[in-house]
Amino acid sequence: MPKYLTGKILKIENQSPTTKRFWVEVVGVDIVEFKAGQFVTMELPIHEKRLKRMRSYSIANAPSNSNILEFSIVYLEKGLASNYLFHEAKIGTELKFKHPAGVFTLPKEINKDLIFICTGTGVAPFRSMIQDIYTNNIPHKNLHLIFGTRKKEGILFKDEFKKIEKEYSEFKYSIALSQEKEWDGHIGYVHPIFEEEYSSVTADRIFYLCGWSIMIDEAVERLKKLGYPESQIRFELYG
Ligand SMILES: Cc1cc2nc3c(=O)[nH]c(=O)nc-3n(C[C@H](O)[C@H](O)[C@H](O)COP(=O)(O)OP(=O)(O)OC[C@H]3O[C@@H](n4cnc5c(N)ncnc54)[C@H](O)[C@@H]3O)c2cc1C
Repeated sequence: MPKYLTGKILKIENQSPTTKRFWVEVVGVDIVEFKAGQFVTMELPIHEKRLKRMRSYSIANAPSNSNILEFSIVYLEKGLASNYLFHEAKIGTELKFKHPAGVFTLPKEINKDLIFICTGTGVAPFRSMIQDIYTNNIPHKNLHLIFGTRKKEGILFKDEFKKIEKEYSEFKYSIALSQEKEWDGHIGYVHPIFEEEYSSVTADRIFYLCGWSIMIDEAVERLKKLGYPESQIRFELYG
């Protein structure tokens, strides 16, 4: 098996004022094997030193009989990779990346409630997992996605998750907006949502956290303070 896969950008779409969706077709294979929640590490032409060219991105779609991977990527003003992906990469651009990897995946058997907590593009692995559960009919318990961002226009995959929430009573979708004044949902950060809802500790829950360290560190601290042991907390740190 070759160490690297090559993907060609098929489609790019604006997802929010600071986020784009990328569809990448992996060349030379019919199906890309991966587990929902995994990421790929891309080697991008952004630095002369190889190690400084590597950036990881969570796969945002579910495993299927396809060779197309989806990504949801945020633009960081001085970020080398995000500048390359937003300003230089275009339809047809080839991306070199390692095989999907990572252990931030669904339990083998979903026999506990899963609470997915994220901000911004940290939703990507959860979109993959939730899509996997519903499109591949994986038996599960209650699911709760808690998504945080600053303003309404930063909400990612909203219509999709709203649709799932409408169709399936065991799926709950909460959005926390930290800088919006006119909003009939939660105003503030993600933390008070899980603190209120899951204040009585039981062993029947697993918390999955994904995003940048500021949010994750705080969420882990608050979950531990509520009384949840580390064995019930899993996280994927973006940086
Ligand atoms: C397993 C894994 C999966 C990931 N999946 C995704 C994904 O699906 N989507 C996605 O958008 N990113 C994802 N990331 C983050 C991604 O790998 C890059 O770190 C990110 O794109 C920034 O790279 P860059 O080259 O643009 O910025 P860099 O050139 O590496 O950094 C530029 C500067 O920005 C700072 N910075 C980093 N993050 C932030 C932030 N949130 N806000 C402000 N400043 C910041 C850095 O400290 C640095 O000083 C993932 C990371 C990991 C480890």
